[in-house]
Amino acid sequence: MNEVWVIAEQRLGKLMSVSLELLGKGTELARQLKVGLAAVLLGDKVRALSRQLVCYGADRVYLGEDPRLRLYQSEVYADLVAKLVDTHKPGIVLIGATSIGRDLAPRIAAKLKTGLTAHCVELRIVNEDTEKPQLVQVVPGWGGSLMVNIACPVRRPQIATVSPGVMTKCDWEEREGEIITLAVDVQQELRVETLEMVHEERTGAALEEAEVVVAGGWGLLSAGGFELVEELAKVLGGAVAGTRPAVDSGWIPEHRMVGQSGKTVSPKLFISVGASGAPQFTAGFLKAKVVLAIDQNPNAPIFDVADIGLVGDLCDILPCLVTELKETGLRI
Ligand SMILES: Cc1cc2nc3c(=O)[nH]c(=O)nc-3n(C[C@H](O)[C@H](O)[C@H](O)COP(=O)(O)OP(=O)(O)OC[C@H]3O[C@@H](n4cnc5c(N)ncnc54)[C@H](O)[C@@H]3O)c2cc1C
Repeated sequence: MNEVWVIAEQRLGKLMSVSLELLGKGTELARQLKVGLAAVLLGDKVRALSRQLVCYGADRVYLGEDPRLRLYQSEVYADLVAKLVDTHKPGIVLIGATSIGRDLAPRIAAKLKTGLTAHCVELRIVNEDTEKPQLVQVVPGWGGSLMVNIACPVRRPQIATVSPGVMTKCDWEEREGEIITLAVDVQQELRVETLEMVHEERTGAALEEAEVVVAGGWGLLSAGGFELVEELAKVLGGAVAGTRPAVDSGWIPEHRMVGQSGKTVSPKLFISVGASGAPQFTAGFLKAKVVLAIDQNPNAPIFDVADIGLVGDLCDILPCLVTELKETGLRI
Protein backbone atom coordinates (compact mmCIF):
# COMPACT_ATOMS: atom_id res chain seq x y z
CA MET A 1 0.00 0.00 0.00
CA ASN A 2 1.21 3.51 -0.76
CA GLU A 3 1.36 6.50 1.60
CA VAL A 4 -1.46 7.84 3.73
CA TRP A 5 -2.24 11.49 3.00
CA VAL A 6 -4.05 14.18 4.93
CA ILE A 7 -5.27 17.22 3.01
CA ALA A 8 -4.59 19.92 5.59
CA GLU A 9 -7.00 22.83 5.82
CA GLN A 10 -5.94 26.33 6.78
CA ARG A 11 -8.10 29.39 6.97
CA LEU A 12 -6.43 32.78 6.91
CA GLY A 13 -3.13 31.22 7.96
CA LYS A 14 -4.49 29.07 10.79
CA LEU A 15 -4.66 25.28 10.65
CA MET A 16 -8.04 23.71 11.33
CA SER A 17 -8.01 21.33 14.30
CA VAL A 18 -9.58 18.57 12.19
CA SER A 19 -6.39 18.41 10.08
CA LEU A 20 -4.34 17.66 13.20
CA GLU A 21 -6.91 15.11 14.33
CA LEU A 22 -6.66 13.41 10.93
CA LEU A 23 -2.88 13.31 11.30
CA GLY A 24 -3.49 11.44 14.59
CA LYS A 25 -5.59 8.82 12.81
CA GLY A 26 -3.27 8.90 9.79
CA THR A 27 -0.27 8.10 12.03
CA GLU A 28 -2.09 5.02 13.31
CA LEU A 29 -3.09 3.83 9.81
CA ALA A 30 0.37 4.52 8.33
CA ARG A 31 2.11 2.59 11.14
CA GLN A 32 -0.18 -0.37 10.63
CA LEU A 33 0.50 -0.29 6.89
CA LYS A 34 4.23 0.41 7.40
CA VAL A 35 4.06 3.40 5.01
CA GLY A 36 4.74 7.13 5.31
CA LEU A 37 2.26 9.83 6.30
CA ALA A 38 2.16 13.03 4.26
CA ALA A 39 0.15 16.24 4.47
CA VAL A 40 -0.82 18.54 1.60
CA LEU A 41 -0.93 22.23 2.47
CA LEU A 42 -2.12 24.93 0.07
CA GLY A 43 -2.33 28.66 0.79
CA ASP A 44 -0.36 31.87 0.68
CA LYS A 45 2.58 32.38 3.04
CA VAL A 46 1.69 29.30 5.04
CA ARG A 47 5.12 27.61 5.14
CA ALA A 48 5.32 28.08 8.92
CA LEU A 49 2.34 25.76 9.33
CA SER A 50 4.35 22.88 7.84
CA ARG A 51 6.23 22.55 11.13
CA GLN A 52 2.97 22.02 13.00
CA LEU A 53 1.95 19.33 10.52
CA VAL A 54 5.28 17.56 10.98
CA CYS A 55 5.21 17.79 14.78
CA TYR A 56 1.70 16.35 14.77
CA GLY A 57 2.73 13.36 12.69
CA ALA A 58 3.43 14.14 9.01
CA ASP A 59 6.67 12.66 7.65
CA ARG A 60 6.52 15.06 4.71
CA VAL A 61 4.50 18.06 3.65
CA TYR A 62 3.64 18.95 0.06
CA LEU A 63 3.49 22.72 0.22
CA GLY A 64 1.86 24.86 -2.47
CA GLU A 65 1.96 28.66 -2.03
CA ASP A 66 0.50 31.34 -4.26
CA PRO A 67 -1.35 34.60 -3.55
CA ARG A 68 -4.35 33.19 -5.42
CA LEU A 69 -4.48 30.29 -2.96
CA ARG A 70 -4.90 32.58 0.05
CA LEU A 71 -8.60 31.74 0.23
CA TYR A 72 -10.03 28.35 -0.65
CA GLN A 73 -10.85 28.23 -4.37
CA SER A 74 -12.87 25.14 -5.30
CA GLU A 75 -11.61 24.56 -8.82
CA VAL A 76 -7.95 25.40 -8.28
CA TYR A 77 -7.61 23.48 -5.02
CA ALA A 78 -9.38 20.44 -6.49
CA ASP A 79 -7.20 20.53 -9.64
CA LEU A 80 -3.96 20.86 -7.70
CA VAL A 81 -4.75 18.15 -5.18
CA ALA A 82 -6.09 15.73 -7.81
CA LYS A 83 -2.96 16.18 -9.97
CA LEU A 84 -0.70 15.70 -6.95
CA VAL A 85 -2.55 12.55 -5.91
CA ASP A 86 -2.40 11.26 -9.46
CA THR A 87 1.36 11.79 -9.54
CA HIS A 88 2.27 10.29 -6.15
CA LYS A 89 -0.55 7.77 -5.83
CA PRO A 90 -1.21 7.64 -2.08
CA GLY A 91 -3.30 4.67 -0.97
CA ILE A 92 -5.51 6.65 1.41
CA VAL A 93 -6.54 10.33 1.41
CA LEU A 94 -8.18 11.84 4.50
CA ILE A 95 -10.04 15.15 4.41
CA GLY A 96 -11.86 17.09 7.16
CA ALA A 97 -15.64 17.15 6.75
CA THR A 98 -15.76 20.92 7.12
CA SER A 99 -17.68 23.12 4.69
CA ILE A 100 -14.47 23.37 2.64
CA GLY A 101 -13.61 19.67 2.88
CA ARG A 102 -17.14 18.73 1.89
CA ASP A 103 -16.72 20.77 -1.27
CA LEU A 104 -13.19 19.58 -2.04
CA ALA A 105 -13.45 15.83 -1.38
CA PRO A 106 -16.12 14.91 -3.96
CA ARG A 107 -14.41 17.05 -6.62
CA ILE A 108 -11.13 15.17 -6.09
CA ALA A 109 -12.87 11.78 -6.00
CA ALA A 110 -14.71 12.57 -9.24
CA LYS A 111 -11.53 13.74 -11.00
CA LEU A 112 -9.70 10.57 -9.92
CA LYS A 113 -12.73 8.34 -10.59
CA THR A 114 -12.47 6.74 -7.17
CA GLY A 115 -14.73 6.25 -4.18
CA LEU A 116 -15.38 8.66 -1.34
CA THR A 117 -16.95 7.87 2.01
CA ALA A 118 -18.27 10.97 3.73
CA HIS A 119 -18.57 11.62 7.48
CA CYS A 120 -16.73 8.52 8.72
CA VAL A 121 -16.85 7.93 12.46
CA GLU A 122 -14.09 5.29 12.43
CA LEU A 123 -11.38 4.13 10.05
CA ARG A 124 -9.43 0.89 10.28
CA ILE A 125 -7.30 -1.36 8.13
CA VAL A 126 -8.00 -5.00 7.34
CA ASN A 127 -5.81 -7.45 5.39
CA GLU A 128 -2.76 -5.31 6.18
CA ASP A 129 -0.38 -8.20 5.57
CA THR A 130 -1.70 -8.96 2.10
CA GLU A 131 -0.98 -7.32 -1.24
CA LYS A 132 -4.17 -5.32 -1.08
CA PRO A 133 -4.79 -3.96 2.41
CA GLN A 134 -8.20 -2.40 2.71
CA LEU A 135 -9.41 0.70 4.52
CA VAL A 136 -12.70 0.03 6.30
CA GLN A 137 -14.68 3.26 6.54
CA VAL A 138 -17.40 3.22 9.18
CA VAL A 139 -20.45 5.47 8.88
CA PRO A 140 -23.79 5.46 10.70
CA GLY A 141 -26.36 3.72 8.49
CA TRP A 142 -29.68 5.02 7.29
CA GLY A 143 -32.98 4.41 9.00
CA GLY A 144 -31.77 2.28 11.92
CA SER A 145 -29.11 1.98 14.56
CA LEU A 146 -26.62 0.55 12.10
CA MET A 147 -22.92 1.12 11.67
CA VAL A 148 -22.04 0.46 8.05
CA ASN A 149 -18.58 -0.68 6.96
CA ILE A 150 -17.72 0.74 3.55
CA ALA A 151 -14.78 -0.37 1.41
CA CYS A 152 -13.42 0.85 -1.90
CA PRO A 153 -11.91 -2.45 -3.07
CA VAL A 154 -10.83 -1.65 -6.62
CA ARG A 155 -10.02 2.02 -7.20
CA ARG A 156 -7.29 3.98 -5.45
CA PRO A 157 -6.91 6.16 -3.48
CA GLN A 158 -9.49 5.41 -0.84
CA ILE A 159 -10.87 8.82 0.16
CA ALA A 160 -12.66 9.50 3.44
CA THR A 161 -13.94 12.62 5.15
CA VAL A 162 -14.20 12.86 8.94
CA SER A 163 -15.92 15.57 10.97
CA PRO A 164 -14.02 17.72 13.48
CA GLY A 165 -13.85 16.17 16.94
CA VAL A 166 -14.20 12.53 15.82
CA MET A 167 -10.51 11.56 15.79
CA THR A 168 -7.84 12.43 18.35
CA LYS A 169 -4.68 14.33 17.52
CA CYS A 170 -1.30 12.98 18.67
CA ASP A 171 0.74 14.90 21.21
CA TRP A 172 3.12 17.50 19.76
CA GLU A 173 6.51 15.88 19.21
CA GLU A 174 9.66 17.73 18.12
CA ARG A 175 10.60 15.95 14.91
CA GLU A 176 12.08 16.59 11.49
CA GLY A 177 10.08 16.24 8.32
CA GLU A 178 10.58 16.83 4.63
CA ILE A 179 8.98 19.92 3.07
CA ILE A 180 8.41 19.51 -0.65
CA THR A 181 7.67 22.84 -2.34
CA LEU A 182 5.26 22.49 -5.22
CA ALA A 183 5.55 24.51 -8.40
CA VAL A 184 2.09 26.07 -8.34
CA ASP A 185 0.76 27.57 -11.51
CA VAL A 186 -2.61 29.22 -10.99
CA GLN A 187 -3.29 30.69 -14.40
CA GLN A 188 -6.72 29.30 -15.08
CA GLU A 189 -9.79 31.49 -15.30
CA LEU A 190 -11.96 30.83 -12.29
CA ARG A 191 -15.61 30.19 -13.03
CA VAL A 192 -16.35 30.57 -9.33
CA GLU A 193 -14.12 32.68 -7.12
CA THR A 194 -14.05 33.05 -3.35
CA LEU A 195 -13.62 36.79 -2.80
CA GLU A 196 -13.62 36.96 0.97
CA MET A 197 -14.26 34.92 4.07
CA VAL A 198 -16.52 36.49 6.64
CA HIS A 199 -15.99 35.43 10.21
CA GLU A 200 -19.30 34.64 11.88
CA GLU A 201 -19.41 35.82 15.48
CA ARG A 202 -20.38 32.85 17.60
CA THR A 203 -22.32 33.27 20.79
CA GLY A 204 -22.68 30.93 23.76
CA ALA A 205 -20.38 28.21 25.06
CA ALA A 206 -18.34 26.32 22.43
CA LEU A 207 -19.97 22.98 21.73
CA GLU A 208 -16.83 20.89 21.43
CA GLU A 209 -15.47 22.02 24.80
CA ALA A 210 -18.72 22.05 26.79
CA GLU A 211 -19.04 19.63 29.69
CA VAL A 212 -22.84 19.74 29.37
CA VAL A 213 -24.69 19.91 26.05
CA VAL A 214 -28.47 20.30 25.84
CA ALA A 215 -29.76 19.46 22.38
CA GLY A 216 -33.28 20.05 21.18
CA GLY A 217 -35.15 18.47 18.29
CA TRP A 218 -38.30 18.91 16.26
CA GLY A 219 -40.37 18.10 19.37
CA LEU A 220 -39.64 21.66 20.57
CA LEU A 221 -42.30 22.78 18.09
CA SER A 222 -44.87 21.94 20.77
CA ALA A 223 -43.12 24.41 23.08
CA GLY A 224 -43.11 27.08 20.39
CA GLY A 225 -39.31 27.25 20.15
CA PHE A 226 -36.02 26.74 21.94
CA GLU A 227 -36.49 28.83 25.11
CA LEU A 228 -36.91 25.81 27.41
CA VAL A 229 -33.73 24.19 26.08
CA GLU A 230 -31.81 27.45 26.43
CA GLU A 231 -33.01 27.83 30.00
CA LEU A 232 -31.96 24.30 30.94
CA ALA A 233 -28.54 24.80 29.33
CA LYS A 234 -28.12 28.08 31.16
CA VAL A 235 -28.93 26.68 34.58
CA LEU A 236 -26.44 23.82 33.98
CA GLY A 237 -23.77 26.13 32.53
CA GLY A 238 -23.93 24.10 29.32
CA ALA A 239 -24.06 24.70 25.58
CA VAL A 240 -27.16 24.63 23.39
CA ALA A 241 -27.28 22.33 20.37
CA GLY A 242 -29.89 20.68 18.19
CA THR A 243 -30.92 18.40 15.38
CA ARG A 244 -31.27 19.12 11.66
CA PRO A 245 -34.96 20.16 11.97
CA ALA A 246 -33.99 22.59 14.76
CA VAL A 247 -31.53 24.23 12.35
CA ASP A 248 -34.01 24.20 9.49
CA SER A 249 -36.59 25.90 11.72
CA GLY A 250 -34.11 28.68 12.48
CA TRP A 251 -34.05 27.88 16.21
CA ILE A 252 -30.26 27.36 16.27
CA PRO A 253 -27.46 28.25 13.83
CA GLU A 254 -25.98 25.51 11.64
CA HIS A 255 -22.76 25.39 13.66
CA ARG A 256 -24.77 24.14 16.65
CA MET A 257 -26.11 21.07 14.87
CA VAL A 258 -24.93 17.76 16.31
CA GLY A 259 -24.59 14.64 14.20
CA GLN A 260 -23.15 13.01 11.14
CA SER A 261 -23.16 16.22 9.12
CA GLY A 262 -22.83 18.48 12.14
CA LYS A 263 -20.63 18.66 15.21
CA THR A 264 -19.27 15.74 17.22
CA VAL A 265 -19.32 16.36 20.96
CA SER A 266 -18.02 14.43 23.95
CA PRO A 267 -19.44 16.14 27.06
CA LYS A 268 -19.83 14.66 30.52
CA LEU A 269 -23.61 15.01 30.15
CA PHE A 270 -25.60 15.15 26.91
CA ILE A 271 -29.32 15.93 27.25
CA SER A 272 -31.51 15.22 24.23
CA VAL A 273 -34.94 16.86 24.27
CA GLY A 274 -37.68 16.05 21.75
CA ALA A 275 -35.35 14.33 19.29
CA SER A 276 -36.30 10.88 18.02
CA GLY A 277 -32.72 9.54 17.90
CA ALA A 278 -31.96 9.12 14.19
CA PRO A 279 -28.51 7.54 13.76
CA GLN A 280 -27.36 10.63 11.84
CA PHE A 281 -28.03 12.59 15.05
CA THR A 282 -26.79 10.10 17.65
CA ALA A 283 -23.50 9.67 15.71
CA GLY A 284 -22.58 13.11 17.01
CA PHE A 285 -22.49 12.20 20.71
CA LEU A 286 -21.28 8.60 20.83
CA LYS A 287 -18.48 9.64 23.19
CA ALA A 288 -20.71 11.47 25.71
CA LYS A 289 -20.23 10.02 29.21
CA VAL A 290 -23.92 10.13 30.22
CA VAL A 291 -26.88 10.60 27.89
CA LEU A 292 -30.24 11.74 29.28
CA ALA A 293 -33.13 11.61 26.80
CA ILE A 294 -36.54 13.25 27.11
CA ASP A 295 -39.24 12.26 24.60
CA GLN A 296 -42.95 11.58 24.71
CA ASN A 297 -42.66 8.47 22.55
CA PRO A 298 -41.52 5.51 24.68
CA ASN A 299 -40.46 3.65 21.52
CA ALA A 300 -38.27 6.46 20.19
CA PRO A 301 -34.80 5.09 19.21
CA ILE A 302 -33.17 7.81 21.33
CA PHE A 303 -33.90 5.62 24.36
CA ASP A 304 -31.70 2.85 22.88
CA VAL A 305 -28.63 5.08 23.26
CA ALA A 306 -29.67 6.86 26.47
CA ASP A 307 -28.38 6.01 29.94
CA ILE A 308 -31.38 7.74 31.52
CA GLY A 309 -34.74 8.12 29.76
CA LEU A 310 -37.66 10.35 30.76
CA VAL A 311 -40.87 9.59 28.85
CA GLY A 312 -43.30 12.49 28.79
CA ASP A 313 -44.18 15.89 27.43
CA LEU A 314 -41.11 18.12 27.34
CA CYS A 315 -43.36 21.10 28.14
CA ASP A 316 -44.00 19.49 31.56
CA ILE A 317 -40.58 17.96 32.21
CA LEU A 318 -38.26 20.85 31.31
CA PRO A 319 -39.83 23.52 33.60
CA CYS A 320 -39.74 21.03 36.52
CA LEU A 321 -36.09 20.20 35.82
CA VAL A 322 -35.13 23.86 35.61
CA THR A 323 -36.96 24.74 38.83
CA GLU A 324 -35.45 21.79 40.68
CA LEU A 325 -31.92 22.60 39.46
CA LYS A 326 -32.32 26.23 40.44
CA GLU A 327 -33.56 25.30 43.90
CA THR A 328 -30.93 22.67 44.63
CA GLY A 329 -28.11 24.53 42.88
CA LEU A 330 -26.95 21.14 41.57
CA ARG A 331 -24.16 21.35 38.97
CA ILE A 332 -22.31 18.79 36.87
C1 LIG B 1 -27.13 12.08 5.04
C2 LIG B 1 -27.90 12.62 6.20
C3 LIG B 1 -27.22 13.32 7.18
C4 LIG B 1 -27.91 13.83 8.28
N1 LIG B 1 -27.22 14.47 9.25
C5 LIG B 1 -27.84 14.88 10.36
C6 LIG B 1 -27.14 15.49 11.45
O1 LIG B 1 -25.94 15.70 11.41
N2 LIG B 1 -27.85 15.84 12.55
C7 LIG B 1 -29.20 15.64 12.67
O2 LIG B 1 -29.78 15.97 13.70
N3 LIG B 1 -29.88 15.08 11.65
C8 LIG B 1 -29.28 14.70 10.52
N4 LIG B 1 -29.99 14.13 9.51
C9 LIG B 1 -31.46 14.07 9.67
C10 LIG B 1 -31.89 12.86 10.54
O3 LIG B 1 -31.99 11.72 9.73
C11 LIG B 1 -33.25 13.08 11.22
O4 LIG B 1 -34.20 13.41 10.24
C12 LIG B 1 -33.22 14.16 12.30
O5 LIG B 1 -32.17 13.95 13.21
C13 LIG B 1 -34.54 14.13 13.06
O6 LIG B 1 -34.58 15.22 13.93
P1 LIG B 1 -35.52 15.23 15.21
O7 LIG B 1 -35.19 14.06 16.07
O8 LIG B 1 -35.41 16.60 15.80
O9 LIG B 1 -36.97 15.12 14.59
P2 LIG B 1 -38.01 13.93 14.66
O10 LIG B 1 -37.39 12.68 14.14
O11 LIG B 1 -39.26 14.42 13.99
O12 LIG B 1 -38.27 13.71 16.20
C14 LIG B 1 -39.03 14.56 17.00
C15 LIG B 1 -39.23 13.89 18.34
O13 LIG B 1 -39.88 14.78 19.23
C16 LIG B 1 -40.77 14.06 20.02
N5 LIG B 1 -41.77 14.99 20.55
C17 LIG B 1 -42.70 15.72 19.85
N6 LIG B 1 -43.38 16.50 20.69
C18 LIG B 1 -42.92 16.25 21.95
C19 LIG B 1 -43.26 16.75 23.24
N7 LIG B 1 -44.20 17.67 23.42
N8 LIG B 1 -42.57 16.26 24.29
C20 LIG B 1 -41.61 15.34 24.14
N9 LIG B 1 -41.25 14.81 22.93
C21 LIG B 1 -41.91 15.29 21.85
C22 LIG B 1 -41.32 12.98 19.09
O14 LIG B 1 -41.83 11.89 19.83
C23 LIG B 1 -40.09 12.63 18.27
O15 LIG B 1 -39.39 11.52 18.86
C24 LIG B 1 -29.32 13.63 8.40
C25 LIG B 1 -29.99 12.93 7.40
C26 LIG B 1 -29.31 12.43 6.32
C27 LIG B 1 -30.06 11.65 5.27
